[in-house]
Amino acid sequence: MMSLFDLHGKTALVTGANTGLGQAIAVALASAGADIVAVGRSSMAETETAVRNAGRSMQAISADLSTLEPIERIVAEASGERRIDILVNNAGIIRRADAIDYTEADWDAVMDVNLKTVFFLTQAFARKMLADNQGGKIINIASLLSFQGGIRIPAYTASKSGLAGLTKLLACEWAGRGINVNAIAPGYFSTNNTQALREDEDRNAQILARIPAGKWGDPSDLGGAAVFLASQAANYIHGIVLPVDGGWLAR
Ligand code: NAD
Repeated sequence: MMSLFDLHGKTALVTGANTGLGQAIAVALASAGADIVAVGRSSMAETETAVRNAGRSMQAISADLSTLEPIERIVAEASGERRIDILVNNAGIIRRADAIDYTEADWDAVMDVNLKTVFFLTQAFARKMLADNQGGKIINIASLLSFQGGIRIPAYTASKSGLAGLTKLLACEWAGRGINVNAIAPGYFSTNNTQALREDEDRNAQILARIPAGKWGDPSDLGGAAVFLASQAANYIHGIVLPVDGGWLAR
């Protein structure tokens, strides 16, 4: 049964893998047997230690994903070493302000990292996957804001709702070609992304009161879903947005 989830012989590229959910996903994939290519703008040293402790190799590629400029280089550097079998689009940002005051600069920054770069990085790696006909697994990190509105995060909600739609479109185009495109929608996890919410006593209490599991998610709670969607166990799963949310959406 375990072999269904075995990733030995596979290489996974994870964006934003230096911290938070991306780091937890990289470590979980490595624990299932995958070698890791970690892409991001900050030091990956901590992730590299954890991946090596799991017995796998890691290549770090330094890149700022706020523009499309580094994409060609990322593909060249990653593919020079091996085939990328699994792509996890995790890097993302959030900017908070009332919709009435939201600036164009914040809108563009969020949409560029969370949606535009995700699409073109995915396109670049999918071209390789389609060219050698060996398929692949693409996992987008969506959000509860792919399903709900939220408050004070208009660009984030637009980007994550857009990412859910994009996940389905890409699944429809590529499912017949052996590529599985799916998304994970994390609930409320303790990372930098949610620090402001956890520090706001009222918002923290409101959020906790609504989570049936009664606690914020720990990044390690997300790894299993990523391993599942990256593995053979998910071969007939296309275009889903899988919530990992302590029951939030069930409420
Ligand atoms: P985080 O802020 O700790 O991590 C974000 C990661 O993205 C970091 O590695 C950061 O370096 C990287 N990144 C951001 N902008 C980048 C850029 N321009 N170039 C390269 N890398 C860049 O937050 P996190 O919670 O770990 O977020 C990971 C993903 O999960 C994001 O897409 C986020 O929207 C999503 N998410 C998080 C939560 C949560 O509760 N924490 C909930 C739903 C979705």
